Amino acid sequence: MTTQQARHEQTCEQVLSSLEVTPSTGLSATEVSARQAQYGPNRLEPAKQTTALMRFLLQFHQPLVYILLGACAVTLVLQEWVDSAVIFGVVIVNAIVGYVQEAKALNALNALQGSLSQHAQVLREGKKATIAAEDLVPGDIVLLTAGERVPADLRLLKSKDLKIDESALTGESLPVEKTTAPLSGDIGLGDRINMGYSSSLVTYGSGMGVVTSTGTHTEIGKISTLLNETETLDTPLTQRIKEFSHLLLYAVLALAAVTFIAGWLHGNPLVDSFMAAVALAVGAIPEGLPAAVTIMLAIGVSRMAKRHAIIRQLPAVETLGSTTVICSDKTGTLTKNEMTVTTLWCPGQQARVSGTGYAPIGKFTADGNSISVEDYAQLNELLIAGAACNDASLNAPEEPGGVWSIIGDPTEAALLASARKAGITEDTLPPRIDEIPFRSETKYMATLHHNEAGTCAYVKGSVEAVTARCTFPEHSTLTAEAVVAAAESLAREGLRVLAFGRKRLAQDKGELTTVDIDTGLTFVGLQGMIDPPRDEAIEAVAHCRAAGVEVKMITGDHAITASVIGQSLGITHADEKGVTHTGTQLDNYNEEELDHAALTGKIFARVSPENKLALVTSLQKQNQVVAMTGDGVNDAPALRRADVGVAMALTGTDVARDAADMMLTDDNFASVTAAVEEGRGVYDNLKKFMVWTLPTNGGEALVIMTAVLLGVALPLLPVHILWVNMTTAVCLGLMLAFEPKEQGIMARPPHAPNSPMLDGVLLVRILLVSCLLTLAAFGLYRYELMLGAAETAARTVAVTMFVVGEAFYLFNCRSLRVSVFKVGLFSNRWIWIGMATMLVLQLIFIYVPWMQSAFQTTGIGVMAWLRILAAGFALSLVVGLEKKWRQTQRRTAVSNPQPSPSEEMH
Ligand code: ATP
Repeated sequence: MTTQQARHEQTCEQVLSSLEVTPSTGLSATEVSARQAQYGPNRLEPAKQTTALMRFLLQFHQPLVYILLGACAVTLVLQEWVDSAVIFGVVIVNAIVGYVQEAKALNALNALQGSLSQHAQVLREGKKATIAAEDLVPGDIVLLTAGERVPADLRLLKSKDLKIDESALTGESLPVEKTTAPLSGDIGLGDRINMGYSSSLVTYGSGMGVVTSTGTHTEIGKISTLLNETETLDTPLTQRIKEFSHLLLYAVLALAAVTFIAGWLHGNPLVDSFMAAVALAVGAIPEGLPAAVTIMLAIGVSRMAKRHAIIRQLPAVETLGSTTVICSDKTGTLTKNEMTVTTLWCPGQQARVSGTGYAPIGKFTADGNSISVEDYAQLNELLIAGAACNDASLNAPEEPGGVWSIIGDPTEAALLASARKAGITEDTLPPRIDEIPFRSETKYMATLHHNEAGTCAYVKGSVEAVTARCTFPEHSTLTAEAVVAAAESLAREGLRVLAFGRKRLAQDKGELTTVDIDTGLTFVGLQGMIDPPRDEAIEAVAHCRAAGVEVKMITGDHAITASVIGQSLGITHADEKGVTHTGTQLDNYNEEELDHAALTGKIFARVSPENKLALVTSLQKQNQVVAMTGDGVNDAPALRRADVGVAMALTGTDVARDAADMMLTDDNFASVTAAVEEGRGVYDNLKKFMVWTLPTNGGEALVIMTAVLLGVALPLLPVHILWVNMTTAVCLGLMLAFEPKEQGIMARPPHAPNSPMLDGVLLVRILLVSCLLTLAAFGLYRYELMLGAAETAARTVAVTMFVVGEAFYLFNCRSLRVSVFKVGLFSNRWIWIGMATMLVLQLIFIYVPWMQSAFQTTGIGVMAWLRILAAGFALSLVVGLEKKWRQTQRRTAVSNPQPSPSEEMH
């Protein structure tokens, strides 16, 4: 029992004094380092994952392995020692390979997740700073804003409509409204409404708190370790493949039974018939497929990471390849989010501001003449309003000639810069007493100030939000319409426009509420700022166009600004009509109109999070595969709903990140396009792998069946089949994962999401190659016997034929459409490394004595090798001719004699 009061029972002052910190200044650097040494980093232990042993054992939990273990048991009973040892060895090797591949894929994903650390806004040494959440110590003063994850356990000192979602901790799904007053008694976590707990999410409002515990001492640290975000490597495709292998299993078992009975009817000894059935079963099942798919997807993940797209959910890799629409935010994603105020507008007065970036260096001009803002009371107040109603800060460059940096919202930083250009600095502003934070839904922010002149509130926000709250003088030319017209004319220049209002309030007013500023504001003016489009976004939009992927801009900004920016990005053009819709219009559309707008619209302005959700839903209903970007707290439902939810790592909120499938480390639209391109590449490579691997299984099964039906000895024993399947999949097939993206990959339309991966053409090719392999292996086997070779030698030739045939065929599979010579014989060096490894292994298999006795092989002569190589070459040639034939057929099928690249690729 402890007599000390719990944190929630103490008053703010008690907590602060016991943690030895002053809330106005925060901790000093020396205190921070002393406490860091004492308490360690604010980090949770990594999640307890399935133990390594368990994951290894799970490798045996596969239908194929059951068959193999069954075969192993029966061969043991039959006293076929070598066979049972080899089969068992293969099971073990298979498990090890599977385990290693899985571990690699998991590590790659987890490492990426870890690379995005969480940040916290703190007050240290009297200054606001953004630090890594890991560096927090007890006593740190933390500022909370909507969308952030609470970085440690906090006793709240200030709450401005603060609501926190604590579902991860308490299971309560509704966000909890927070206060600061002490609470009495021994109450549960969910009721401690003056505390903020690590890992919970701020969904509304803002607040301030003092860190009471960090790392494993936090409540979440006590009950569990870090939630592991990548728990599964399953994707729709791996699921489909698993289902397919299960189905195949039954078919194979039936075929194996038929083989066994056929052999028995032919009068073969039972043991031989059984071995034939086992050979057929192990041969026909594509055992390496699920593991190969996972590893190929994981390679896709790391390729995407190199291009600034971090995958949080493995299925996204696949979905990206079939994306048909990208709905993108404007500010920061399509544009640079580097704001500079260029124009000021007050009733009867307009001024231009020069200068670039956030450097507060620039001049004011009106009608081309330089002016001093001090002489213009209205302009002066407009700049004061911009700087006062502001949470950002500007930092001078550390070295002369360096660039000015900002903390906070670029829109607000631009307002600070424009004010400073007129000599208005933060210390000349009236002290702030209270504020109502900006929210995308309300589109305004308000602050309450007090000085000798009186108490007043400043409001800044969208033109609509501010003018709706203003009272315009009667019989004056200054009307809401005049302001809107002025704002629209600035918007036509592509400027982002903010409006400002002011209201005098009672002298003793200490708190600002929405009611105070809902009416009766005096209009102050407008500030227009440029936000240039990202150069790479212009190119990326063009790429999407060519790739049959629609780009739609979804923004909170004004329709005219959005449209002008949309035009400069190539999303729309000046004379395109009916492609811009506003949130209000969307709200009023009926279902049919909404569907039409969603499909044909290109710019959606002043949208609410609900509009975003409605757009995604409507597009999906119309069979579109939608990637949607978002950064705000309320974007989460749309991000979850989208086929690929994309969050911004730099500016996005933790809430949005949590809901997303993918994150952009550079917040750049071009990275979404890059991810789509990589997604297509992964899908292509998976397809190539399937087309390459399935004929091995088909061929092996056919060889066994033919032998049994003809009543002749088996050309391949189960151990041989296992050898071929294991070695070729790893040494040859997996190398297709490193295949560079084919030329023109972004010049063809996306593949239909639910279309089968293998179409008729590819299925025919798989069948063709299965037959060719059967013919070659069976033919050479019989030929060797005819030449008088021993059974073992003939079998060795048959096995080698499979390996060599697969190696030659690998070249055909490097592109499913064009010849390998077009792709470039040496453009994937991994293919050659794999080939060389395979050759060495095969030589060991044939010539090393202990392998010979384990696998019942024997050395073969040069002539046999030559025949094998010739057959392999012939096989590859036939497939090459088939591809060529298909290509000419495609060309003639297209009436246009000059097929477009997209047709070419199909
Ligand atoms: P996107 O969704 O493309 O990122 P956005 O950033 O322009 O769009 P919001 O942040 O929702 O969208 O902003 C909508 C409008 O709210 C802006 O056009 C502007 O008028 C106003 N606004 C933006 N930031 C602030 C702010 N910090 N304070 C007050 N008003 C703001």
